[in-house]
Amino acid sequence: MDIKNIAVMGAGAMGHGIAQVAAMAGYNVTMRDISQEFLDRGMKNIRWSIGKFIEKKKISPAEAEKVLSRIKPLVSLEEAVKNADFVVEAVPERLDLKKQIFKEIDGYAPAHAILATNTSALPITEIAEATNRPEKVVGMHFFNPAQMMRLVEVIKGEKTTQETVDVTIDLAKKFGKEPVLCKKDVPGFIANRITIAGTNLVAWMVSKGEYTVEEVDAATMYKAGMPMGMFALLDFTGIDIAYHVMKFMEEREPNFKVAPIIKEKIEKGELGVKAGKGFYTYPDKGKWAMPQIPQEKAEKFDPMTSSYVSINMAAELIRNDIAAAEDIDKTMKLGFNMPIGVLELADSIGIDTVVSKLKEIEAKYGEFYKPSPLLEEMIKKGELGSKTGKGFYTYK
Ligand code: NAD
Repeated sequence: MDIKNIAVMGAGAMGHGIAQVAAMAGYNVTMRDISQEFLDRGMKNIRWSIGKFIEKKKISPAEAEKVLSRIKPLVSLEEAVKNADFVVEAVPERLDLKKQIFKEIDGYAPAHAILATNTSALPITEIAEATNRPEKVVGMHFFNPAQMMRLVEVIKGEKTTQETVDVTIDLAKKFGKEPVLCKKDVPGFIANRITIAGTNLVAWMVSKGEYTVEEVDAATMYKAGMPMGMFALLDFTGIDIAYHVMKFMEEREPNFKVAPIIKEKIEKGELGVKAGKGFYTYPDKGKWAMPQIPQEKAEKFDPMTSSYVSINMAAELIRNDIAAAEDIDKTMKLGFNMPIGVLELADSIGIDTVVSKLKEIEAKYGEFYKPSPLLEEMIKKGELGSKTGKGFYTYK
């Protein structure tokens, strides 16, 4: 399929970034938002970002002008999609809104056009149902900021054809991105599914009074060497963002329950840095200052706790043929700047250790944490990781 024209729905945090990425890759882009004011703000953000690329000598001022001339901001949806070969939707994360927009796009876009959604957690299959071309609807999940982050998750809905998936993967590569494939429309896809479940378990431990927020954060920073504690990071990105994915998992996964401490923060509107208060208190709304966490609190908590759960989630993705091991590790490294992938980590810890830790967690926190049959099978085969020469990967 020969793609020349790309339409982006939404000029917000993600939309303007995606429009810029597409224009920098040489495509003609239309960017649609509901008012001229939002479009102007999106174009201003694009100009600022392109200025940074010029400063770093990644593009010349002449090339930058060409990139800008390829982006056409439009308020009319019909105008924006009527010649599109590929549409990327990046409007607010509401299922009703996305369905309505997909229905409209379906009515105006050429029959051959592929319609992609940048949703973080909503079901692709349900969004596709709003159109008469569900086989051409796909998930294309960029990371923020889209101009800088190399990872793109491509998600297959129930009716998405392989051809649609192939074209989307190819387009992501032409954008200069590193695509990974999520073969089924599971809540949280690969990236959020793997990380959020571990975060939620730790939040349950704090909710039950086993550890304090500071004990967890001190251990994450001073024992695991992460730049920020787990709860400080939730504050930084917005507790509502994580809650959103957790809520979808709660609705669609048996045995998964959002931790009370997270729900409490949402109910109180204490969403993190943007609200001036989350798990910590900040100087002002939107004003971040690193929470002061005493080092001596690091002793009690095992900072690997959430990793055991992430490994288990990853094993289930492999067992159910949802994602390949290499794609899972690529997701963790490129999406979260982790030095090693979660499966490489499993191999280095030892699958037997991971399973015994998971059993302890399951006994206390329920069936959701039951070790994956894949991990049990690996133990039976003696595939315990690097120490036996084989685990998720093979070692010489
Ligand atoms: P945002 O609020 O910054 O931008 C959304 C834009 O869509 C706004 O400018 C809004 O005016 C516009 N809009 C609303 N209705 C519209 C319509 N009918 N047609 C066209 N535009 C319309 O939101 P965002 O952070 O860019 O998120 C967009 C999507 O990307 C969401 O689905 C979100 O889950 C997903 N996402 C966000 C991030 C992130 O970190 N922000 C990362 C990955 C994916």
